[in-house]
Amino acid sequence: MPLVKAQCTQCGAPLEVDNSKEVAVCPYCKTPFIVEKAINNFNISNANIYTNQMVLNENTELKNKVNLLYREIRNKIKKANDLFEAYNRIIIKKGLILDGAERETLKDIQALETRFETMKETPIYSNEEVSTLKNMSDSLESIYLKIQTFMKKNTEVEKNKTVFKIFGHIALAIFIIILIVTISKCASNFTSENSSSRTSSVYTPTSNSNPIKIVSALKVTSSVTNVFTQTYNTTITGKIRNDTTTTYTNVVFEFEVETTTLGQKAILSLTISSLSPGDKTINSSTATKGNFEKINSVIVKIQGMNNFFLV
Ligand SMILES: [Zn+2]
Repeated sequence: MPLVKAQCTQCGAPLEVDNSKEVAVCPYCKTPFIVEKAINNFNISNANIYTNQMVLNENTELKNKVNLLYREIRNKIKKANDLFEAYNRIIIKKGLILDGAERETLKDIQALETRFETMKETPIYSNEEVSTLKNMSDSLESIYLKIQTFMKKNTEVEKNKTVFKIFGHIALAIFIIILIVTISKCASNFTSENSSSRTSSVYTPTSNSNPIKIVSALKVTSSVTNVFTQTYNTTITGKIRNDTTTTYTNVVFEFEVETTTLGQKAILSLTISSLSPGDKTINSSTATKGNFEKINSVIVKIQGMNNFFLV
């Protein structure tokens, strides 16, 4: 006789029953039960567990998807800004100004950036958010193409010049580069010495819904350690809070820092091997090439959690 999975209607114990019989007795609580009801009981609770698990999996998947897109867009906005800045430098060097289409593209980048800043303050884990973010990502791709077209348009103008002129320009360019390098070396040595041990503007968190919070604003300090190699000792200090009752291991903080003078950016990371509930003072020190004075964003990655948090 084949046995069928069932669940006791009285105590809930998992059972295997002979479904050709009408009644049986639970070996655990000794209560007689109707076989068909016990089988139904098993099927219903199993279906519930399955459905709950499905919903949980779906939520985690969605969360990961949204978080990945946030990160992707953040990087893409940075790339778009970098590309546009590089292009703008070419324009300035040529003594030109941005035309209408170029100004529009810059406005588009800024609008996307502003929108993204607002979005990441209160992350929404929904399918609508996924498609909004995907659209933003596509918009950024088409912005890259536009900037590339602008660049092409400018190089074509160059091609029209004669070989002689080009050589003349190359010689002039080499001379200018040597001059710029010499001047900037002198200038940066001068600035470095003057900017040693300068404490930055503070970083104030944007979101407070995460398990990890920044309770006092973070500060970044860079002090020059070697003028000639442009090496700095960059320190991030502040206080963070684990707002849960869990002790997390290997919590990674990624700080995006920026030099306020040159706009040069870098990611500094700090790993805390054990982050117990409550407050913790952080003091991370790294040797960097660059005088970082500003923290743009902080991302927290917790081991065992696929999500990361923007704090
Ligand atoms: Zn029972």
